[in-house]
Amino acid sequence: MTLITYMRIVILVIKITNMGIALYVHIPFCVQKCRYCDFVSYNYSPDLAQAYLKALEQEMLFYASSELVSNKKINTVFIGGGTPTVLATVELERLLVILKTYFSWSKETEVTVEANPGTLCKQKLTVLKNAGVNRLSLGVQACQSNLLALLGRVHNYDQAVQAVEWARQAGFDNLNLDLIFAIPHQTIKEWQESLTLLADLQPEHLSCYDLQLEDNTPLSVAVEQGKLLACSEESALAMYQETIAFLTGKGYSHYEISNFSKPGYQSEHNLCYWHNKQYLGLGLAAHSYINSTRWANTGNLEQYITKVSKEFLPVDERHQLTTSEMMSETVFMGLRLINGLQLDDFSSRFNCRVTDVWSEQINKLMKQGLLAMTATHLKLTKKGLPLANVVFREFV
Ligand code: SF4
Repeated sequence: MTLITYMRIVILVIKITNMGIALYVHIPFCVQKCRYCDFVSYNYSPDLAQAYLKALEQEMLFYASSELVSNKKINTVFIGGGTPTVLATVELERLLVILKTYFSWSKETEVTVEANPGTLCKQKLTVLKNAGVNRLSLGVQACQSNLLALLGRVHNYDQAVQAVEWARQAGFDNLNLDLIFAIPHQTIKEWQESLTLLADLQPEHLSCYDLQLEDNTPLSVAVEQGKLLACSEESALAMYQETIAFLTGKGYSHYEISNFSKPGYQSEHNLCYWHNKQYLGLGLAAHSYINSTRWANTGNLEQYITKVSKEFLPVDERHQLTTSEMMSETVFMGLRLINGLQLDDFSSRFNCRVTDVWSEQINKLMKQGLLAMTATHLKLTKKGLPLANVVFREFV
């Protein structure tokens, strides 16, 4: 290793060590499995939830007293799943109490909880709000009963509307609604209707994802067997373009491939991922990225509880990233943002310019009209947006 390379690595480690972290907590329980879902989740039971919360507390205790995170500022908190709000009110209360026992953050910190409209009640929302949760992310996914049934969701559209109303009454002024398009048999008219209905609810943020048919899920099996017809690429593209046109027309800023927000309401937590910053993931199957190392917890619930109870870390995989891997990830995560990758940020992190590393690829993609370079950013063009994965492959 040359002295210059060595110095670059030392500077990089110092910079990374001094940054704050985002905190993610995984609650792996749901009412039932949705037909498209390949996340790690188990059907909720009070006994399992109790054992899990106990294990989670053990894991929190370990990290809170570890130098790895104890001296770092918590920039954002995100409680996701699964379905965190499937927990009973007292369990939610306990989760937030233990979280605040081991980690602290300021009043201004963004604290998000994911919620399924079929699992909410006024009481749970009040508990969340009083405990300092200031952002709610509701998985609405579709507004039509036929599509919700096809996805295997446990709620209907009326419950989503009710959940939004209750959340507002509880004092939530930062709501995200998740929606899915390119569902088998979904028409563009149904998609337009969903967008209109959800925009009418005036959420501060909307996440609109195209459905990925993950292997071995009931939905992908039904498509393989010809029982359902997958959405064509043309229809998916038309729905995506409609999303951008409609939501920007309603005053939402399109700031990431799939995300839209009212001014000042971008997801701070997700921005941490897109800026390839550090995060600590707690709980089953949670991922972490600190001091240029990535690790993932086991996805097996029994193993997680047993390991933690025996005071072992429940980590399954650990990988120390090379500088070149960190550069690649920084580029393709940054390109997910509509403004693109900040060129200065990349240079100051890695002590070289992005064009020093990928000049050939960047030139090729610019000639193809998929990438554009401004004085400050490298970004996907309008043509490049739906082809983001093709672009990202060039930087791996
Ligand atoms: S609610 Fe979310 S995590 Fe739970 S099964 Fe459905 S998609 Fe998966």
